[in-house]
Amino acid sequence: MADSGRGILLVVSGPSGVGKGTVISGLLERYPDVELSVSCTTRPRRQGEVDGENYHFISDSEFEQMRRSGELLEWAQVHDRHFYGTPREPAEQALAMGRTLVLEIDYQGARSIREQLGDQAVLVFVAPPSWQALIERLRKRHTESQQAIVERLASAREEIENMGMYNYVVVNDKLSEAIEQLVSILLTEQQTIERFDWRRLRDELLAQADEWG
Ligand code: ADP
Ligand code: 5GP
Repeated sequence: MADSGRGILLVVSGPSGVGKGTVISGLLERYPDVELSVSCTTRPRRQGEVDGENYHFISDSEFEQMRRSGELLEWAQVHDRHFYGTPREPAEQALAMGRTLVLEIDYQGARSIREQLGDQAVLVFVAPPSWQALIERLRKRHTESQQAIVERLASAREEIENMGMYNYVVVNDKLSEAIEQLVSILLTEQQTIERFDWRRLRDELLAQADEWG
C-alpha cells in the first residue's frame, strides 16, 4: 500500500449485524498495514471481547471526561443507550503520517467526521442484500438478547435512512465480493491526486529523463 501523501480515515457504517466487522477483518487480513481505530464505549464488555482490542471499555464519567477535554474526534449515543467515541490522537496521527485507519462507527459519527475532515475521510456504507438477511444475521450471531435485537433493528432503519451521505455503498451479499469491493475502494482512494505522492514521482522521472539526455 502507498504510505506517502495524506492518510485516509476509512469510515465504515451500516446496520448492526450487516457484517461490517467481518468485511473489515477481510480487508485487514489482506493489508496488515491498514489499522483499525479502537473506540471508547460505555457499554458492558461482551463475552470474548478484549479491553483495548475490541473497544476501550470505560465508565460514563470517564467518557464524559474524555468528551469534555476534546480527546474524542467524534462521539454518539448509539441504539439510544450507550456512548461510543473515536479517540482523536490515533486518527490525527494516521492522517499526518499518511496511513489508513478504519473507523467502524455509526451514521452520526460518520456525519461528524465528514463535517470536520471533508475529503480526508472516505465514507463507506455496508448494506444488507435484504431486510430479512439482516434479521437472520443478527439472530445467528447470538450476541444480543431479543430486546437488544429489537433496538438494533430500530437503529438499522436510521442507518439505512442516512445511506445517501456516504461516498460508496457495498452490498454485503457474498462476503468475498464485499471484501473485494472494500479493497477496491481503498486502492482507488489511495491513487487520487490529492493523496498520491505525485511530486516525488514526477521529480524522479524528470531527473531520470535529464540523465538520459
Ligand atoms: P456487524 O459488525 O455489522 O455488526 P458482524 O461482522 O458481526 O456484523 O456480522 C454479523 C453476522 O453475520 C456474523 O455472524 C457474520 O459471520 C455474518 N455475516 C457477515 N457477512 C456475511 C455474509 N456476507 N453472508 C452471511 N453471513 C454473514
Ligand atoms: P456494538 O455495541 O454492537 O459493538 O456497536 C454498536 C454500534 O456502535 C456499531 O454499529 C458501530 O457502528 C457503533 N460505534 C462503534 N464505535 C463507535 C464510535 O467510536 N463512534 C460512533 N459514532 N459509533 C460507534
